[in-house]
Amino acid sequence: MRLSKFFMPILRDDPKEAEIVSHKYMLRAGMIRQESAGIYSWLPLGLKVLKKIENIVHEEQAKTGANELLMPTIQSADLWRQSGRYEDYGKEMLRITDRHDRDMLYGPTNEEMITSIFKSGVQSYKDMPLNLYHIQWKFRDEVRPRFGIMRGREFLMKDGYSFDMTPQEGKHAYNKMFVAYLRTYARMGLKAIPMRADTGPIGGDSSHEFLILADTGESEVFFDKAFYDMDWSTFEIDYDDKQAVASVVDDFTSKYAAAEEIHNQEEFDAKVPKDRQVSGRGIEVGHIFFFGTKYSKPLGALVQDAEGNQVPVQSGSYGIGVSRLVGGIIEASHDENGIIWPQAVAPFDVGIINLKSGDAATDKQCEQLYGDLQAAGFDVLYDDRDDRAGAKFARMDLIGLPWAITVGPRGVKSGMAEVKNRKSGEKTDVPFSDVGKFISQ
Ligand code: ATP
Ligand code: MG
Repeated sequence: MRLSKFFMPILRDDPKEAEIVSHKYMLRAGMIRQESAGIYSWLPLGLKVLKKIENIVHEEQAKTGANELLMPTIQSADLWRQSGRYEDYGKEMLRITDRHDRDMLYGPTNEEMITSIFKSGVQSYKDMPLNLYHIQWKFRDEVRPRFGIMRGREFLMKDGYSFDMTPQEGKHAYNKMFVAYLRTYARMGLKAIPMRADTGPIGGDSSHEFLILADTGESEVFFDKAFYDMDWSTFEIDYDDKQAVASVVDDFTSKYAAAEEIHNQEEFDAKVPKDRQVSGRGIEVGHIFFFGTKYSKPLGALVQDAEGNQVPVQSGSYGIGVSRLVGGIIEASHDENGIIWPQAVAPFDVGIINLKSGDAATDKQCEQLYGDLQAAGFDVLYDDRDDRAGAKFARMDLIGLPWAITVGPRGVKSGMAEVKNRKSGEKTDVPFSDVGKFISQ
């Protein structure tokens, strides 16, 4: 993509409304634009990141055998009356009346609808187990939308739902998602610590929130320093191997980690020596829940088992804050000059800065490099605009591409490009023909 043809409205000054760094950089880099409180347009640069995150989610879900579908944003109130949640949900639910006076709502989540879809499509244990998910916009009329897309009213969520015949199989489905979530976040360069979460009346060890650490996080969190030494790499796993999956879950859940609502200092003291106790702030980027028959019973989702009995299905739900992750990643990875994208979610792999647009030899060299890098499979942003060098460097740092390649008349003469690694700041002179090789190792 040529910058001269790319819509990326950069703001020179810090926007007043931004209280946290991710919000500030997202606005300054022209990734998003606020349309009303907690409701945003995703501009091209922001949308590219959002899609990369979605893709990682899809790939990791596919490995578990989950099925992608797509449910609508607008739902009928009747389903929610059956589950009893229509009144309970309160003011966070955006309620809509259509022209025939029917009560509709903009979905804040999809347990009711998915249970109904499941019910109409599955009658027998032979069609089980099943995990269905989608990535869809949600609306929650938050009292205090803030921090940009971190706490929006309209936001993009991956929500998945598991269906099993027995509590044991349901637990395995839960464990699979637990591991898939660890892998998903790790691919985005994040350590998202699974923390025990409130399960309400169901109880037990059946709900976890995944939090990434950041000073601007909304929750206070308490955990064992031992998490720092764990294997966060995207370890390989056979999802059909119940033992292997359970042992990863056990490994992570055996260590103390809890957000403030559920934190118990006595238990923390008993389990974790003082010098290993860490507290800080965290951003919730995911939440998984095993709720057994909570929705299948009231909604009558029964399945025939091998003995011919009609049994209520065991289910769980699994959410990832897809749009929130864009901000979360920035909170976890930035410096005073801008964003530092982890490679896997960067909007472009590499940027080319033409130091002297209009100079025939420099233009030619840039065009050549632009073409070569694209042919080698890189997604390239070529800054071909006629701006001052300082402005170009600042803009490239702000948008945080992993690599920036500077081409100027002097380099053209000596046959060298200057390659800068955004993360380390390290600059290396590399012959033009070796740039692709250099940045891929
Ligand atoms: P929170 O405690 O942050 O309000 P929640 O517990 O209500 O979130 P869930 O119902 O668990 O949210 O939704 C799954 C995920 O969706 C959350 O882990 C979070 O990452 C994301 N999410 C929830 N609410 C918002 C929001 N208002 N804006 C952006 N992302 C959100
Ligand atoms: Mg939650």
